[in-house]
Amino acid sequence: MILFIPQRRRCEQCHKSFNKSDELTEHMKSVHRQPVFKCRNCGKEFLHEKDRLHHVREENERKTDARRHSRTGLK
Ligand SMILES: [Zn+2]
Ligand SMILES: [Zn+2]
Repeated sequence: MILFIPQRRRCEQCHKSFNKSDELTEHMKSVHRQPVFKCRNCGKEFLHEKDRLHHVREENERKTDARRHSRTGLK
């Protein structure tokens, strides 16, 4: 049996850990004044440019998917 282990995010500067990457992003921004990368489509913020690019790619794939599904008449 495979147990679901939530991925814990940890601050590299003060080693505080967070349940969600969003919380870590918020922490880095407000506590350490770290600049963040923002998604132009939905406004989600990321600590690393590569994370943002990964998110944008996923978003684009989802959009392509939605278009494909709408053509079949299914949601
Ligand atoms: Zn910190
Ligand atoms: Zn987005």
